[in-house]
Amino acid sequence: MEPRIIPTGEATAILPAGDHHSPVKVFGTEKIRDTFDDLCLQQAINSRCAPGVTDVVLNPDAHCGYGAPIGCVLASPTHIYPGPVGFDIKCSMSLLQTDLPEDAVIDEGVRRKLIHAICRRIPTGMGKGARDVPKGRRIDEKIGSAAMTEGASSGVLASLGIPVDWADRCEDAFHRGHDDSVDALKQRLYDLRQGKTFRRFRETVQQLGSLGGGNHFGECEIVEVNNDDAARETADAFGLRNGCVAFLSHCGSRGIGHRLASGQFRVLEEKFQQWGIPLPGNDKQLVYAPLGSDEADSYIDDMAMGANFATVNHLLINALVLEAFAEVIPGTKGKLVYFISHNIARNEIVNNRESWVHRKGATRAFPAGHPALRRTPFEHTGHPILLPGNPQAGSAVMVASKGAKESLYSVNHGAGRMLGRRRAIKELDQKHVDDSFAAADILTNCRRYPKDEAPAAYKDFEEVLQSVKQADLATEVARLRARFVIKD
Ligand code: 5GP
Ligand code: MN
Ligand code: MN
Repeated sequence: MEPRIIPTGEATAILPAGDHHSPVKVFGTEKIRDTFDDLCLQQAINSRCAPGVTDVVLNPDAHCGYGAPIGCVLASPTHIYPGPVGFDIKCSMSLLQTDLPEDAVIDEGVRRKLIHAICRRIPTGMGKGARDVPKGRRIDEKIGSAAMTEGASSGVLASLGIPVDWADRCEDAFHRGHDDSVDALKQRLYDLRQGKTFRRFRETVQQLGSLGGGNHFGECEIVEVNNDDAARETADAFGLRNGCVAFLSHCGSRGIGHRLASGQFRVLEEKFQQWGIPLPGNDKQLVYAPLGSDEADSYIDDMAMGANFATVNHLLINALVLEAFAEVIPGTKGKLVYFISHNIARNEIVNNRESWVHRKGATRAFPAGHPALRRTPFEHTGHPILLPGNPQAGSAVMVASKGAKESLYSVNHGAGRMLGRRRAIKELDQKHVDDSFAAADILTNCRRYPKDEAPAAYKDFEEVLQSVKQADLATEVARLRARFVIKD
C-alpha cells in the first residue's frame, strides 16, 4: 500500500501507520507535503512501527535519510535508536552576535580579510584539523579526551580560551554517560582507545575547532529583527542586535562522532544477525537497543562523547571567529546567542513519561515556561531556535509557541534538501550558481560554489517557515542576511 498523507489543517496532516499505531504527525503546507517522496514517507512509517516507539513527527524540511527521514522526531520510553540520531552526532547550529554595525562589513575588502582571518584559524574540509591552519588552537590528547568526557566544563573552556559563561548558552553544555556519570565515559574512552576505533586519536582530536566539509558552513550575517513588539522583546532577551553583524555556524562532531556512530551501527547490525530478530521495516539502518541493555548503555556513552566533542567544537569555533573579527576590526566584541543541536537523542517528558526524544534533522522547541528551561536565561521567553535556510533566502531565529507541544516540542532544522547531491551536480549550472552569489553580493571562500550545496538544491525556505508558523509551532524573531559564506 502506498503511503498516503491526510490533511487535517492548512499546515497539519497525518500519515496513517497501520491499525496498531497512532499516525505520524505531519507539519507542512500542501506545497511542502508535495515534496515528501514515497521513500521518505515509508521511512517515517517504519520508524513509527518500530519497537517501543510511541510518537513520530515529520517536519516540513523532511527528506529521505539513514533509516529515518532527515527532518523527523521519534520518541521512545523504552528503546534507543542510533539511525534517528545519525552519523554526525550532535550536528548543530550556533550564533555569535557581534557589536559591529552592518556598515562595518559593506566593504568587499574587509569581508575578504575576514574570510582570510577566519580560514587561518578554522580549517574546512574533510579530515582537516588545527595543524592544517597557521592560527588554530593546539589540541593535545589530554584536552581532546577531556572535551569528549566533560563537554563544556569550565576546565575545558578555560584551557581553550573560550569564555566560560558561554556554557550557559548551550542547549546542553555537557552529556553524561548512561549512568549519569563522567566516569562511565572515561572508562568507555579508555576501552575504545585499546581497540581500533581511535588508533589515530592524537590526530583526530585536533579536529576540535574545525568546520568539516559538505553541508557544514560558517556564515557572516546581518541581523534583521522582525518588526513587531513581541519579536523585539524576545530579540532583546536573546541578545540579538538589530542591524548588527552576527556569525552563524553549522557543524557537528567531525571524525570522532562519525567513528563512534559507525562503530555502533556495525556492532548492532552484527547483534541483530546473531539474534535473528526482525529489523523494523526490514531496514538494517533502524537497528535499536532496549534501554538497560549493555548495547544501549554503550550507545548512550558513545553518543554522549560525540555530543561533548561537538559542543566544544562549536564553542571553540565561535571563540576563533571572534578572534578573527578582532584581528581585522580591532575592538570587536561578541557574545554567543545560542548553541543548539539538530541530531541528538535527549531524555525528555513525553505523555507524562520519560522518553528518549530522537531529533534527526530537527530542532528542540521549548516555549516560555517549559519546566526544562527553569533557571536558564530563556525561562520566560523560550530558547532561541536557529534555522539555516540558504545563503540567498537567508536564515531565521525563531522561538517556540505553546502549540509546539503537538510536535514533540520540535521544529525543522533548515530548509531541507530538495535535490539529491548527484541530481544537483547534474542539473544545476555552475556559472548560474556563481553569478547568483555575485548578484546578491554574498562572498564565499570557494572559487566555484559547490553545486550540490547551491540554494536551488534546497526547499523553498519561505514555504518551510510558513508551515512552521501556520501550524503554530514557532514564531519568527529575526531574519539573518548572509554577507559571506565559508564552505568547503
Ligand atoms: P543538514 O545538512 O544539517 O541536514 O542541513 C541543514 C540545513 O542548512 C539545510 O537544510 C539547509 O536549509 C541549510 N543550509 C545548507 N547550506 C547552507 C548555507 O550555506 N547557508 C545557510 N544559511 N543555510 C544552509
Ligand atoms: Mn546538520
Ligand atoms: Mn552535520
